[in-house]
Amino acid sequence: MIWLQNVLVSRGEGGVYGERTLDGYRVWDPYRSKLAALYVLGGGMELIPEIRVLYLGAANGTTVSHVADYTGTVYAVEFAPRPMQDLLEVARRRKNIVPIMADANRPDEYAPFMEAVDLIYQDVAQPNQVEIAVRNLVFLKPGGHLILMLKTRSVDVRRDPAEVLSEARAGLERRLDVVDVRWLEPYHHDHAAIVCSSR
Ligand code: SAM
Repeated sequence: MIWLQNVLVSRGEGGVYGERTLDGYRVWDPYRSKLAALYVLGGGMELIPEIRVLYLGAANGTTVSHVADYTGTVYAVEFAPRPMQDLLEVARRRKNIVPIMADANRPDEYAPFMEAVDLIYQDVAQPNQVEIAVRNLVFLKPGGHLILMLKTRSVDVRRDPAEVLSEARAGLERRLDVVDVRWLEPYHHDHAAIVCSSR
């Protein structure tokens, strides 16, 4: 990862969402991106040009654009039409983003456009976040990683966030090795990152 004066940045064409620049690099703001928050908090895995990423919950491409600055190819899945319009514009300006309008619950629908990936990154804020991740493991290479951004309030707003996290962790541990778990405070409340590797 690239750090300038302790600021996380990425190298790519700027002006995607009004992000700041620092010495010509794009500032990757932990308050605007959960993945940036994970890196700033000392977690995450190194993003390098040799890896392919499946990104579930691409929204308007804010975080996708930074991931694409670091990696080889990003398959970016989003099901809502409005953010998809912005994502298409981001993809038009970069050569390595494959935008896919689909429901992440239905990986069979985008399997024809996919290759095996080294990293699945998921940020979908749905009640069945773990189930969605597990369904998409068909695309993960052996030795690959999953980073799941768990929004505990989307799973169940009435339950204790710590309890929701431990249940999600247990669900993932049936299929993967959990290598890191951390809350994203103070950047994102009631969100935790669960980082797993495939066996
Ligand atoms: N990851 C984005 C970023 O950092 O820029 C923000 C993602 S936002 C919290 C969640 C996104 O997931 C929304 O755009 C929503 O439409 C999308 N989403 C939710 N459920 C989905 C599903 N089942 N399939 C595809 N996209 C989904």
